[in-house]
Amino acid sequence: MTSTRAVRGPFDYRLPEELRAGVHVGSMLVVPFGRRELLGVVVGLAERSEVAEERLLAPLRAIDEGPPALNAELLALARWIAAEYCSTLARALALVLPPAAARRLSGRKRRAVPPARHVPVGASSAHAATLTAEQQAALAPVTDALRARRAERVLLHGVTGSGKTEVYLQAARAALDQGRGVIVLVPEIALTPQIVARFTRRFGDTVAVLHSRLTPGQRYAEWRRLREGAARVCVGPRSAVFAPIDDLGLIVLDEEHDASYKHEGDPRYDARDVAAERARLGDAVLLAGSATPRPESMQRLPARVLSRRVDGRPLPDVQVLDMRGHAPGLHPHTLHALAEVRAVGRSGAAGKAIVLLNRRGWSNFLSCRDCGHVWSCPDCDVALVLHQAGGYVACHHCGHREPVPARCGDCGSSAVARHGAGTERLQHDLAQVFDDDGSFPVFRLDADVGPSASVLARFEAAKSGALIGTQMVAKGHDFPDVSLAVVLDADATLRFPDFRAEERTFALIAQLAGRAGRGGKGRVLVQTIAPEARAIVHAASHDSHGFLAGELQRRRALRYPPFSHLIRVVCSAESARAAGSAADAVRTQLLECLSLARAAPSRAPAGRDPSSETAVLGPATLFRLRGRERAVVEVKAAERRPAVRATGQVVQRLADARAHAGVSFSVDVDPQ
Ligand code: ADP
Ligand code: ZN
Ligand code: ZN
Repeated sequence: MTSTRAVRGPFDYRLPEELRAGVHVGSMLVVPFGRRELLGVVVGLAERSEVAEERLLAPLRAIDEGPPALNAELLALARWIAAEYCSTLARALALVLPPAAARRLSGRKRRAVPPARHVPVGASSAHAATLTAEQQAALAPVTDALRARRAERVLLHGVTGSGKTEVYLQAARAALDQGRGVIVLVPEIALTPQIVARFTRRFGDTVAVLHSRLTPGQRYAEWRRLREGAARVCVGPRSAVFAPIDDLGLIVLDEEHDASYKHEGDPRYDARDVAAERARLGDAVLLAGSATPRPESMQRLPARVLSRRVDGRPLPDVQVLDMRGHAPGLHPHTLHALAEVRAVGRSGAAGKAIVLLNRRGWSNFLSCRDCGHVWSCPDCDVALVLHQAGGYVACHHCGHREPVPARCGDCGSSAVARHGAGTERLQHDLAQVFDDDGSFPVFRLDADVGPSASVLARFEAAKSGALIGTQMVAKGHDFPDVSLAVVLDADATLRFPDFRAEERTFALIAQLAGRAGRGGKGRVLVQTIAPEARAIVHAASHDSHGFLAGELQRRRALRYPPFSHLIRVVCSAESARAAGSAADAVRTQLLECLSLARAAPSRAPAGRDPSSETAVLGPATLFRLRGRERAVVEVKAAERRPAVRATGQVVQRLADARAHAGVSFSVDVDPQ
């Protein structure tokens, strides 16, 4: 398996007699390719080839005996991904192949590895239970479709604690009872141990769990258990959508709003759309759930609503704290509320708080007080962030690090100013104020601390304390003794120049609010300098229906997804001129290609010409990243297929053109 854009395959090989019996569509073979040996996947078998007989080479050997590595559905899925995301079949196949397939080619012996053991974490029993009327109404379309072996999609829109997971579990039971397999996608295993534990507890050894801390051997062992049918349920992050399960009946998509479902390498697939396609191919059911569904899903999927928490507890009170006119940092109300939580803890009851600040490090940037010099990354046009404990400043885009500067490189001054505060500083400041005697530990969860599972476990085990961190603290955790949740700088995400900024902000606040008061009375404080922003007002009143209605209206007016499809082409090169001229060419050729597509007979409904609504925006300059200058062109298309096809053709042509040697092109369909 090679993954350069240039290898476009498929390629024909002659199948020798001795390999015939064991080779099927989906089998893996080692083949000669030029001077190299590559891993190939059989994507078709034919009686004859258009290549002359004497020029056909034979594969060297088969990789595995027995059933082929890939079933027909996964092969079809790979083809779909290659086309849908303007990638190549080779790269798409790499997604569905057994893990580390390429590594096993290098001739290393495979050792027998015992499957990973699943240790249930956390506790929530309720064996579960007669479903509420709302839960039953949500489960019904799933079981109906399973019974009829019909592809179906359902959106489960339910506040946190409304019993969504219980519906997933019973839907999985129904699929298993019919002999069909199940995939459960979660945003990040380390942050969602509870849902994993509930599946393993309910279904035992038939569950395979894929998570980032498995060794390649363990991962492969889990893959085998699924491929051979020993495991019929796969729980995992986005790549689990490719789990080798025959006769798949159900795909659960938990926290469907989570941005981690989008893959950032080529092919830039979105596991949510891949899941929908896989369900369609296999006549399976897609069950997507969230307390804060995306506007796209709201528009596309029939929704079932779980309107209240199962235990009847009200959602926590949310108070918006206007920070205009206040010094940065914590609002007096926030300090007071944290002191109250600590007092509860000291009285012997459980008192815990979660504080979200979506910014890592100690200070956002450093500047020289004398000449104004700002420390920035040598390879990217961004400021370096101070990490105090580590003693370095770092680029959050490429990872570049330097020791903390003692003086200015430009003027020699030693007066270095630190601006802004991140999670590291917040942890330090809170510990100073509240943990003077060690009874109110302040834990930190962000990408800089060690394994998140251990931070979460220590916070859970503590009698009292605070968990502070980036958006990681707002994921699906279920700590019954958290009574206070605080969002600092809640409008930070609103300031992103992105049409999803409001959706993100709403989801972040609403999700964090869902962490408070799960075992008693809860309270949420939202610090912001934009207290009237729509996302914040709706989040404060737990009004996701109101927010979504307004958001869909806005998207329709501005023709953003789901009312259009976005495709982004980024051209990067060492010089800004090369990147810019490649982007100009992308724009020109796209306009040509798309207007040609318009001239061709269109299947569009009469009286409307949707392709005329397609716009090509840019080129615009992006900030320099990893030493490369970048320019972007964006297509806003009414019709998806022709636009994706045109973009794929244009980019392929330009990538092959000598005039643009040294430019790399990356295509992102449905960019996040
Ligand atoms: P969500 O996934 O929406 O956060 P859960 O499925 O985790 O909600 O449900 C919240 C709690 O209520 C869990 O402890 C769960 O076991 C319990 N629960 C769910 N459904 C029922 C039910 N029908 N009867 C009793 N308890 C239930
Ligand atoms: Zn200076
Ligand atoms: Zn950098």
